[in-house]
Amino acid sequence: MNKGSILKHKIKNAADTGAWRNQSPYLDKKTCIGCGNCVKYCPDACIVLREAVKKGKKVKFANIDKKFCKGCGVCAQVCPVKAIAMK
Ligand code: SF4
Ligand code: SF4
Repeated sequence: MNKGSILKHKIKNAADTGAWRNQSPYLDKKTCIGCGNCVKYCPDACIVLREAVKKGKKVKFANIDKKFCKGCGVCAQVCPVKAIAMK
């Protein structure tokens, strides 16, 4: 049997899709609970979780790189708290 491997996705090698998408995801940071669902399901791997300190507590929130986002809307569909709206 041949051995396989999983290559880590490199966003820098991805196609720049930001120029042709016709809708964009807008994140409401106050609503985002940092669950990471959108990170897992984004087909362009252009969402990462960032950390911040809010009222003395560490919180996570999604950060979308719109240069590589193709506007598919998957992130908005999988968000359990509807923190992402497509516009
Ligand atoms: S709209 Fe699609 S490509 Fe853009 S961040 Fe959401 S899931 Fe990713
Ligand atoms: S799925 Fe929604 S709540 Fe979870 S990290 Fe993404 S935007 Fe935030």
